[in-house]
Amino acid sequence: MSATEPIRHDDLRLIATEEAWASPELVNRMKKLAEHPGNDPDLNMWARFLGHNPHNETLVRRLQDIYGERIQHMDEHRVEMEILSLTAPGVQMFDRDTAVGMAAETNDTIAEAVRKHPTRFAGMASFAPQDPAAAAKEIDRAVNKLGLKTVIVNSHTNGEYLDNPKYWPILEAAVAAKAPIYIHPRNLPAPAAQFLVGDTYNVNGAFWGFAVETALHGLRLIMSGVFDRYPDLKIILGHMGEGIPYWFARLDYFYASRSKIQRPPSEYFRENFYITTSGVNDNNVLNFCHTVLGPDRIMWAIDYPYQDVLGAVEFIRTSTLPRESLDKITFQNAERIFRISRE
Ligand code: MN
Repeated sequence: MSATEPIRHDDLRLIATEEAWASPELVNRMKKLAEHPGNDPDLNMWARFLGHNPHNETLVRRLQDIYGERIQHMDEHRVEMEILSLTAPGVQMFDRDTAVGMAAETNDTIAEAVRKHPTRFAGMASFAPQDPAAAAKEIDRAVNKLGLKTVIVNSHTNGEYLDNPKYWPILEAAVAAKAPIYIHPRNLPAPAAQFLVGDTYNVNGAFWGFAVETALHGLRLIMSGVFDRYPDLKIILGHMGEGIPYWFARLDYFYASRSKIQRPPSEYFRENFYITTSGVNDNNVLNFCHTVLGPDRIMWAIDYPYQDVLGAVEFIRTSTLPRESLDKITFQNAERIFRISRE
């Protein structure tokens, strides 16, 4: 290879770890709520998704597909597996009983996809934080009966975060089931989200607001001492850790006067968190995260169908990281953390 020839890894085994699916029921219920979005940022976002234009119609069609276009795109780009999860905001905007029922149905459907195609799909389980006791039971059922080994939550629920003691049964259930909790983004609660949108700008959603909300959730867990209480709790953050690794020096400098936690925030992040690359197809950022977190805590993702498959595969195939690290990032870490069995 000449010095000018770009490095390519076209033979990487690829497991994509943050890939969205929407049940028709979720779409229908969001459609109903989005008829009167008020100032709710997620409902306004869904009102846009459900508006009539070709881009959004394609998006909503792809969200609801499991076995058709999705597998075609995986084949076309040689993506071996996807870890499926119910798209944001999941069941978290519905009334308690609806949410509990939908979480169980979602988990049954995703588990069926995994049973049908164990070499192509694994899945994350949904739960309804609106009913913490039911959520704890569903986590146990999803992991131990359905074989979904990780659970997902779309950040806040009605403006409340998992550090709130009312949600501790959920954290305890996740620890007992050895299931990491993927904290997927949604928009900030409405009172805060209003400051991210205006007549001439909109920095909400995937542009920037998701990262603010989800990093906030991660930092609340760290600073509130959740990991001193539950040292075995594992959290997964997408989008290269929602920016938190970039802030390690400042977090560690300022934390002591604000919290009773036993160690600097970066130590909890390094021990209790994994991150995925979802949607941040930037090798400078990957190199940085690899330097500060090491190769064992990073997993590749696409964020299908919100972002395109080609961008994500080209990004990782042109990484200049050592091959040993890339194999961990693209499949070995996912196999271990999601406890994937292909039988
Ligand atoms: Mn996503």
